[in-house]
Amino acid sequence: MVVVGAGMIGLSCAIRLQQRGLRTAVVSADPLERTVSALAAAVWYPTRTEAAPRVLDQARRTFEEFAAQANTPATGVVMRPTRMLLRAPVDEPPWWAAAVPDLRYCPVTTTGPAGVVAEWRCMVPTVEMRPYLSWLLDRFRTAGGVLHQRRLAALSEAAEVAPVVVNATGLAAGRLAADPAVHPVRGQVVVVANPGVATSVRDEGHPAGVAYVHPRRRDVVLGGTFDPLVAASDDSSSDLDGFRPDPATSRAIRARCAELVPEVAAAPVLGQYVGIRPARHGGARVDVDPGPPSGISRLVHCYGHGGAGVTLSWGCADEVAALVTR
Ligand SMILES: Cc1cc2nc3c(=O)[nH]c(=O)nc-3n(C[C@H](O)[C@H](O)[C@H](O)COP(=O)(O)OP(=O)(O)OC[C@H]3O[C@@H](n4cnc5c(N)ncnc54)[C@H](O)[C@@H]3O)c2cc1C
Repeated sequence: MVVVGAGMIGLSCAIRLQQRGLRTAVVSADPLERTVSALAAAVWYPTRTEAAPRVLDQARRTFEEFAAQANTPATGVVMRPTRMLLRAPVDEPPWWAAAVPDLRYCPVTTTGPAGVVAEWRCMVPTVEMRPYLSWLLDRFRTAGGVLHQRRLAALSEAAEVAPVVVNATGLAAGRLAADPAVHPVRGQVVVVANPGVATSVRDEGHPAGVAYVHPRRRDVVLGGTFDPLVAASDDSSSDLDGFRPDPATSRAIRARCAELVPEVAAAPVLGQYVGIRPARHGGARVDVDPGPPSGISRLVHCYGHGGAGVTLSWGCADEVAALVTR
């Protein structure tokens, strides 16, 4: 078995395959810290995904996996109190509610951001991606896995490693799998020192753009933006080099976030980053290729997770493992 890609998706697939007793290698063009996954905020929430039963199942399985991993401090996974702000009252739970055990609807009674009338409160998994990706790689290697750093010109080259291939190449899958539905979506975040914030706050309906405040152990990720790009390189790491943070956008993000959590207004800025989400019209592709390149006996695709790759990862990895062994 070989998995092409060592972001959140590739590593979770590789570990699930190992758990099924399959000898598995990973090929990645980039080191972990240069993947889009390393930049994710990264909080469980099915951002801009289809409200479909299959997606809910992927999200629910991932929630459960993270909740179990949160018992191991080295993972960097923390179950955090979360507030999801609402700017209009709602009379039914969100479509993803079945994945979140303790979701509660709370009308706002105290002074809060202008226009907010209620909020959902719950505990959700938050993941510090750099330590988490390292932990995944250690786990993969400890189980006998080998990581090759190499950029493939075509998926057929993966057959030099093994005849059964999982394509987890994120944005690059648009070219490697000749899939025109894959497209880049730019995201910018600002990271500030943590002034003592412990609760995650999300305002998807902020009139000036989505706003989120996601605390980690030492810092806080302030977001964000979700801007589809007309054209970009299909190589995610070059995209990271090519898209520099826009200072005016960072100031606007910070101002929105300070409305939600005033403490972050004066916190020292540690960095500002741009990542290019691997989005796909119609949602992530997780299926068996009907006509794999010669030399490949089975090709399973798993790419195009957009702004929800962390949230759907383990559920998609379960599907990939089932498709590989079917
Ligand atoms: C600012 C920002 C915030 C985000 N916040 C969240 C969040 O809070 N929650 C959430 O669920 N998601 C979030 N996301 C989305 C999430 O980061 C992505 O959905 C996820 O990282 C995609 O993972 P991936 O493994 O498919 O892709 P990537 O991480 O891009 O990995 C792709 C892998 O494929 C390899 N590869 C590519 N081309 C080749 C080739 N030719 N040969 C060999 N290897 C190749 C790369 O080297 C890399 O290892 C966020 C994204 C951004 C940008």
